[in-house]
Amino acid sequence: MSRYRASIVYDRILIVGCGRAGVAAAEELTRLGFQGEITLLGDETNAPYDRPAVSKRLLDGRARPCDVKMPIDTRTERTVRWALGRRAVHLDPATRTVGTDTGEAFEFDGLVIASGAHAAPPRDWPIGEPGIHTLYTVDDAWGLRQDLRWAEKVVIVGAGLTGCEAACTMRNLARQTVLVDSKPQVLTRAVGEMVGEMITEEVRHDGVQLRLGRRVASISRRRRRWLVTLSDGEEIETDIVVASAGERPETGFLAGTGLDLSDGVLCDESLRVLDTDGRVIEGVVAAGTVARWPNLRYSTRPQRIGQWIAALEQGRAAAHTLLALDEPVPPVTVLPRYWSEQFGLRIQVAGVMPPDADISVTHLRPGRRESIRAGALVSYYQNGRVVGLVGVNAMAPFNSLTRALLVNPDLVEPAVPTPAPMPMPASAPVAQRRRLYAVA
Ligand SMILES: Cc1cc2nc3c(=O)[nH]c(=O)nc-3n(C[C@H](O)[C@H](O)[C@H](O)COP(=O)(O)OP(=O)(O)OC[C@H]3O[C@@H](n4cnc5c(N)ncnc54)[C@H](O)[C@@H]3O)c2cc1C
Repeated sequence: MSRYRASIVYDRILIVGCGRAGVAAAEELTRLGFQGEITLLGDETNAPYDRPAVSKRLLDGRARPCDVKMPIDTRTERTVRWALGRRAVHLDPATRTVGTDTGEAFEFDGLVIASGAHAAPPRDWPIGEPGIHTLYTVDDAWGLRQDLRWAEKVVIVGAGLTGCEAACTMRNLARQTVLVDSKPQVLTRAVGEMVGEMITEEVRHDGVQLRLGRRVASISRRRRRWLVTLSDGEEIETDIVVASAGERPETGFLAGTGLDLSDGVLCDESLRVLDTDGRVIEGVVAAGTVARWPNLRYSTRPQRIGQWIAALEQGRAAAHTLLALDEPVPPVTVLPRYWSEQFGLRIQVAGVMPPDADISVTHLRPGRRESIRAGALVSYYQNGRVVGLVGVNAMAPFNSLTRALLVNPDLVEPAVPTPAPMPMPASAPVAQRRRLYAVA
């Protein structure tokens, strides 16, 4: 068995990053019976935590940082060597050593790169000044929460999943909220244009002031507040600005090592790290948001996935690949999936939403005016195969279809009644108009 061979070949496995992927890799190495030393190196001083809580329970005060600690298998928690509060700054592939900002050097035989990503607001924004926030870590959420005590108005830049969750929290806390995004609807990347348009109405209805199809041109001080100037010239005075637009993979410590870092760490289909010539680097794997790999479930094009469940599954899979040494391992295929609760909507997503996909819409209670709130399930098809699902207030059908997709990646028809064609709404994006149905 390769894992026993691995225990002989490897004395030390180093995991850089104590997020979901890194901790999952450590748990899986322990579960598989790896006998050597496992070190988890992370730059945050907090114990590992559930990052999705940053824009949810932590922000609205339902939880404190100690309440969102990541549940960790006790054997792993006890046996791994924790090296928190240290930042990896350099990897030396020749000596197989990672150097840290504290001047320490961690030697390894096997390496898991699980350094995730970081918030990436435009460089010229005054991030770090009072009232200007990013939202990625527990400390970010805590800092923002402190500022909210005196603030009346908040501008959130970026209407993705995190930005919309933050906007929902601000409304619940009775703060005036302005949401800015360059796209004409919210949640474009998260749920696709069509569902995004429907959710936009709910967000507007909840009292969020939307500034869609516009960008932030500048942010400057105005007396004790901030002045946000938009691309169309509109000026908005505010107490707080939350930058929730974009993230960048965390690869700084890998610079100059010959790895392909064009967007995260390039890996093969089993998460083995590749150099710029496409050769496998022995004993080095990557997992989580930082890993760019071909998810053969959908495509041979390497891509990153920034989701919690994917990070967990990749972390586990990377542990298997590492212990397999040079033996063949099956490709790591993942069904991307996540959920969010905001504005009274439970939004669930599984799979992918290619722009050229055929689409079918099932309204769970057709005829109701507030149809998206009453429940809708949207299926995306490619070559007759279901490749993506978006459910809004449609838990039961969404969950059963997702279970079916997990078991059978080639699912052809969802288990819902046969759709009957309905007239195309003028607002449906062209790329998505190829087939649109409503189901009674
Ligand atoms: C506010 C927010 C809300 C989210 N909500 C959801 C959600 O509802 N559902 C969902 O599916 N996904 C959600 N996500 C995404 C999800 O949290 C990420 O996909 C997941 O955390 C990725 O895990 P990871 O381990 O790959 O990376 P990360 O969680 O980024 O962890 C990487 C860790 O490595 C550390 N690190 C980085 N560089 C170094 C270094 N050089 N040296 C040492 N340590 C280093 C980082 O500080 C971090 O602790 C959310 C993300 C954010 C920011």
